[in-house]
Amino acid sequence: MLGLMQDWPLLCHKIIDSAARQHGNREIVSRSVEGPIVRTTYRDLRQRALKVAQKLEREGYALGDRIATMAWNSARHLEAWFGIMGMGGVYHTLNPRLFPEQIAWIMNHAEDRAVFVDLTFLPLVEKLAPAVKSLKKVIVLTDAAHMPQTSLANAVPYEEWLAEADGDFAWKTFDENTAAGMCYTSGTTGNPKGVLYSHRSNVIHAMMAAMPDAMGISSRDVILPVVPMFHANAWGLGQSAPMIGAKLVMPGGKMDGASIYELLDTEKVTFTAAVPTVWLMLLQYLEETGKPLTYLKKVVIGGSACPRAMTKKFQDNYDVEVIHAWGMTEMSPLGSLCTMKPEYAGLTGDARLDIQQKQGYAPFGVEMKVTDDNDNELPWDGKTFGRLKVRGPAVAKAYYGGAGKDQFDEEGWFDTGDVAHIDPNGYMQITDRAKDVIKSGGEWISTIDLENLAVGHPDIAEAAVIGVSHPKWDERPLLVVVRKPGREPSREDILAYMEGKVAKWWMPDDVAFVPEIPHTATGKIQKTALREQFRDYRLPTA
Ligand code: AMP
Repeated sequence: MLGLMQDWPLLCHKIIDSAARQHGNREIVSRSVEGPIVRTTYRDLRQRALKVAQKLEREGYALGDRIATMAWNSARHLEAWFGIMGMGGVYHTLNPRLFPEQIAWIMNHAEDRAVFVDLTFLPLVEKLAPAVKSLKKVIVLTDAAHMPQTSLANAVPYEEWLAEADGDFAWKTFDENTAAGMCYTSGTTGNPKGVLYSHRSNVIHAMMAAMPDAMGISSRDVILPVVPMFHANAWGLGQSAPMIGAKLVMPGGKMDGASIYELLDTEKVTFTAAVPTVWLMLLQYLEETGKPLTYLKKVVIGGSACPRAMTKKFQDNYDVEVIHAWGMTEMSPLGSLCTMKPEYAGLTGDARLDIQQKQGYAPFGVEMKVTDDNDNELPWDGKTFGRLKVRGPAVAKAYYGGAGKDQFDEEGWFDTGDVAHIDPNGYMQITDRAKDVIKSGGEWISTIDLENLAVGHPDIAEAAVIGVSHPKWDERPLLVVVRKPGREPSREDILAYMEGKVAKWWMPDDVAFVPEIPHTATGKIQKTALREQFRDYRLPTA
C-alpha cells in the first residue's frame, strides 16, 4: 500500500521560491569583483534567476545541459545557479585554482556548453576556451561598462544579456532525481572525478545541514560563506541559507584577514564557514590589530583538520563557538559535525577541546562505519582506526562517466579514502588519508595527530608530517615546519614540546624547516609534493 501524501518533488528552485515568499526582503550582500559592496534581496535574486533560466532556454539550452560557473561567491553566482537548475540545466562549478590544462580536461569531460565567469577569471577562460570543443558561450558576470576587450568571440556581459529577458518564466518541473549540479574532486593523483548532485540530494542535504545539531542556522543568522561555491557547494550554504531565509554575505575574491573582518563587522555576521587557512589569516589580523569579534557566534571549520590552538583561540579569546566538520565533494559535502550531545555538553576547558579535535558525528542522513582492509567492521571504541565508509541520500553512488568504481561496494558503501576511528558516542576522528598514513614497522602512525600537536607550539605557523623511508622501520615521520615570522624555534625545542604528548614511537625522527608548505587548489596540504621534495631525505636515525 502506498501512502496518500502529495508527490511534491524535492526541486532546488522550490528553495528560492520559499526564500522569496517568506523572506523576500532579506538581503544578500556581495563584495563585487568590480569593487563596491552591492545589495540585493531574495525576492530580486529569484526574479533574476528566472531571467537566467528564460535566457538560457531561449538560446537553446535544455534539460541536462551542463553549464559551468567560474566565479567567486556572489549574488550573481547564486542566481546563475538557481537559473540554471530552474530550467533543468546542471550547474558545474569550476575551481579556478586548478591548472588550466586540468580545467580544460574537466570541461571537456563534462561537456560544458556555456560558462558564467567572473572578470577575474576571464583571462583564464580565454586561454582554455579553444581547447573546450563543447563551449558555445561565455557570459561574463559584469556589465557593459566594465566589460574588457576579449579574444573570445562568443563572450557577452551578463547584465546586458540578462536585460533581454523579462523573467516571465515558469520553473520547469521534472523528477527530483534529475541532475542539478556537478563538481569535480581535485584528486592529487589521476584525473579529477565528477560528482553529479541531484535536486533531491541537494534539497535533503540543505535540510540536513541546517538542523540544530548540524550547522544550527536560522533566519535570524547572518551567514558569511567564505568557503567558495566552487569548493563542494560552499558546504551547502548556497542552498541551506535561502532555505531557512538567512541574510547572506558573499565575500567575492577577497579572503584576507582585513577584508573578511570588514564584512564580519559591518554586516554583523553571526555565522561563517571556511578552511583553517582562512581562519589563520583572520586570527593573525585580529592579533595584530587587537580588534574584537562583536557579532560572530559560530564558525564552522573543515576541509582539513582544525588545529586545537585555533579552536581554543576562537572560543577563549573571542567567545566564538567552533564547529569542527568533516565532509567531501562526494558527500555534498557534509559528513559529520562536532556539536555536543548531552554526553559531552557539560565539558569545559581541555576536556571539551579534546572532543572538538574530533570531526564529530554523522547527522541523520549519513551512515558511517570503519573497516579493516578485509572489510570487517571495526568497533566504535575511539581507538581502533580503519577505512571510513559512508552512505546516504546525499552521498555519490558513482562518479560521472564511471571512473573510480572500486570506491563503491554492492551494499552502497562509499570508501572515503580517509582513515578514522569512532568513539562509543559516535564521534568520528580522522587520523589520516589512507595514502598519507605512515606505516612504521607494520603499525600505523597518524600524521594528522602529529600535525595538530606541532601547530600548538607557539612559534610554529604551519606543520606537515610525511613518511620518509627508513631502512629498519620502512617509514618514519618527518615533521616539516613553517616558523612564525620573527620566531626561531630549534629542532630540539619543538621535539621537547611534543615529547610525552604522543606515544614515544610516534615521535618524528627529525624536523625540517621550510619557508612555505605547498597547498592544493582546495587549501589542503599537498603531501605528494612534500614527499617528492623530501624523497632523498636522510633521517638522522637511518
Ligand atoms: P574535498 O572533497 O576537496 O572537500 O576533500 C575531502 C577530504 O578533505 C576528505 O576526504 C578529508 O580527507 C579532508 N577533510 C575534510 N574535512 C576534514 C577535517 N575536518 N579534518 C581532516 N580532514 C578533512
